[in-house]
Amino acid sequence: MTNLSKALREKLIERFEIKAVKILTQQKSKDGTIKVAFKLWDDNIIEGVLIPTASRMTACVSSQVGCSLSCAFCATGFLERQRNLDAAEIYDQVVLIAQLAVKNYNIPLSNIVFMGMGEPLLNYANVMKGIDYITKPEGLGMSPQRITVSTAGITKMIKRLGDENVKFNLALSLHAANDVRRSSIMPINDTNNLEMLVEALNYFHEKTGTRVTLEYCVINDTNDHEQEALELAQFAKRVKCKINLIEYNPIEMATFKASSSEKIEKFAAILEQQKLIVNIRRSRGKDIDAACGQLANKNK
Ligand code: SF4
Repeated sequence: MTNLSKALREKLIERFEIKAVKILTQQKSKDGTIKVAFKLWDDNIIEGVLIPTASRMTACVSSQVGCSLSCAFCATGFLERQRNLDAAEIYDQVVLIAQLAVKNYNIPLSNIVFMGMGEPLLNYANVMKGIDYITKPEGLGMSPQRITVSTAGITKMIKRLGDENVKFNLALSLHAANDVRRSSIMPINDTNNLEMLVEALNYFHEKTGTRVTLEYCVINDTNDHEQEALELAQFAKRVKCKINLIEYNPIEMATFKASSSEKIEKFAAILEQQKLIVNIRRSRGKDIDAACGQLANKNK
C-alpha cells in the first residue's frame, strides 16, 4: 500500500498480521470437480471442493482441521481434530473457491455446502459468523437459502439453530435409522440417538419452517437392505424432510464398499412407495478423492 507513508507501513507490519488462507494445491477430476488443499497460517492443511453441475456451481467447505467424530466410513474421521477454523478462514475458503469457479468455468458460485472436513455444529460460533460474512452485502451477498450446513447430529446445536431462526438449510448425515447400526458406524449416535434427533429436527422445523435433508450414504451390505429402507422410511415420516441417497465412496482406511446402482434404485423405490421425496446423488470427483467422505489431506 504505497499510498501510506513508509513509517506507517512499518508500524502496521510491526503490529498486525494478515493470516490469509492460501491455495496449496489443486486437482481437477475428469468430471470437472476441483479439489483444493488450503494452507492455513499455522501450516495446518484443510480441503475444499468446487463441484460444477449443469445447474449449479457449488463450493463444499471445511469447518475444522480434522474431525473428532470418527465416523467409520469417512476419511476425515481418521484424522485427529487439530482445531476449529475461525470465521475468516471459512470465508476465505469460499472466496478462493468462488474465484476458481469464475476462472475455470466463467460461472459465479451459486451454492455452498458445509460438508467438507469437520463437524460444523461443533464449531458453532465461527460457522455462524462465517455465514454472516458470506451473506452480508459487504461480504459475498449470497442468499442463505443457497447455503446448507450438514451435521452428523449434534441435537443441542440443531435446537439452537432453531432458536436463532436461521435462514440457511440444514442436512443431517443419517446413514442408518436403527440405533444399533447407526452407533456402529457413527459413534456420535451413542449420545445423540435417533429419538433425540427426531425431537431436535421437529423443533428446528417448528421454529424455522425449513424442511431438512436426510443424507444417506448407501453402503453395500451395511445399510442397503429392504429392512434398512423401511427403517429409514419410518424415521423420515416422523420429520419434515427430503432424502438424498448418496453413492458411497470407498476409502483406503476402511473396507466398506459402494452398493450397486440396482440396489440403490431398489432402495429408493421402497422409499418412494412410502410417499417420501427421494433424490439419488451420484458421486463427483471420485478419481481425485474429492467425493463425500474422502477428504483426508492425501496430497499434503
Ligand atoms: S462424516 Fe463428517 S462428522 Fe463424520 S468423521 Fe467425517 S467429517 Fe467428521
